[in-house]
Amino acid sequence: MAYRITLIPGDGTGPEVVEAARRVLEATGVEFDWDVEEAGSDVMDKYGTPLPEAVLDSIRANKVALKGPITTPIGHGFRSVNVAIRKILDLYANIRPARSLAGVPNYRPGVDLVTVRENTEGLYAGIEHDVIPNEAAESIRIITRRGSERVVRFAFEYARANGRRQVTAVHKANILKATDGLFLRVAWEVAEEYSDIDFNDRIVDNMCMQLVQRPEEYDVLVAPNLYGDIVSDLCSGLVGGLGVAPGANIGAEIAVFEPVHGSAPKYTGLNKVNPMATILSGALMLRHLEETAAADRVNRAVAAVVAAGEQVTYDLKPTRDDPTAVGTREMANAIIAALD
Ligand code: NAD
Repeated sequence: MAYRITLIPGDGTGPEVVEAARRVLEATGVEFDWDVEEAGSDVMDKYGTPLPEAVLDSIRANKVALKGPITTPIGHGFRSVNVAIRKILDLYANIRPARSLAGVPNYRPGVDLVTVRENTEGLYAGIEHDVIPNEAAESIRIITRRGSERVVRFAFEYARANGRRQVTAVHKANILKATDGLFLRVAWEVAEEYSDIDFNDRIVDNMCMQLVQRPEEYDVLVAPNLYGDIVSDLCSGLVGGLGVAPGANIGAEIAVFEPVHGSAPKYTGLNKVNPMATILSGALMLRHLEETAAADRVNRAVAAVVAAGEQVTYDLKPTRDDPTAVGTREMANAIIAALD
C-alpha cells in the first residue's frame, strides 16, 4: 500500500530540491501517494496567508510530511511559516544529524553529531514588541519544565534507540539563570533516569569552540530553540555546509521532514543547489516509516555519489566556480543511478 504523505515544495529553491528528493524516494520502489500542498510567500495572493489551513489539515490527516524550505521576510512582514508549522502541530523535537562523508571539500573524518533542538518555545515563541518604536524593543523568552523535560527525554530515547553513548545539554545558565537554569536542572533530573547514557553539559559559547576543535568528543546535543538552531548550523558547516544537512521535526504523532537550509532565493530556478539535504531528509522519513532497507539504500547512494565527487553540485566541488559542477536534477539522477 502506498504511503499517503503531505508534500510541501515550499518556495525559492524549495520546489527544485523537493522534486529531486521525490524522484529519489520513488526510485527506491517504496510507493507514495503524495498530497501536494502549497505554502509560502508565493501563495499569499491566492489564499491571503502564507500558511493555508488546508496545509495543516493535510499534515494532521497524513501524520507525515516532506517539506521544502519557505522564505521568511527579514525584519518585517509575516512570521515564519516554518516556525508556525512546528508550533501549531507541536513538533517539539527538531533532529539535525551531521556526519562526515568522504568526498566533501574540507572533509573532516569522525564527525558524527546529532543536534536535538527544542522546537516550540524559547525565543521562537515570538512574543516581542516595540517598547519605544525605533528606540527599544523587547522579546520574551519562554522556557518551561514541560518543554525542557520532553525534549531532553526525547534526546535520551533517541540516543538509546540509535546506539549512541552520550548526551550533552547546551545552555547559557551562567547568565540566564531563570530560563536556562530551569532547562539545565531539568536536563540533569532526566539524565538520572538514563544511567546507560553518559551525560554532561556545556555553556553554548564554549560548546561552539569545542565543536570546531574537538567534534569527535561529542555525540547527541540537546538545546533550547535558538542555541539548537545556531549550533546545528555550525555542525552542518563541519561536514560540508547547509547543502548536506537533513532534518526532522517530531511530535507525539506527527513528523515533518525538511532540510536544515533555507530557500536560498538567489539560486531560484537555476537548477544549481544541492538536493542532498532534502534527499537525506527523505531517508530520515523512510526510517520513520520503518522502511529501513530503503533508507539505508538512499544513504549509501548519496555517500557513493559524494565520494566519487563527479556528479555533484558546486558546493561539493573543491572550488565554488568549478566548471564540472552539475545541477540539482543531474545530482539526483546520479543518486538514483547509484541506488543498489
Ligand atoms: P539559506 O539556507 O537559504 O542559504 C544560505 C546559504 O547557504 C546560501 O546562500 C547558499 O550559499 C547555501 N545553501 C543553502 N542551501 C543550499 C543548498 N541546498 N545547496 C547549496 N548551498 C546551499 O539561508 P538564508 O539565506 O539565511 O535564508 C533564506 C531564506 O530561507 C530566509 O527567508 C529564511 O528565513 C529562510 N529559511 C527557511 C528555513 C526553512 O524553511 N526551514 C530555514 C532557514 C532559513
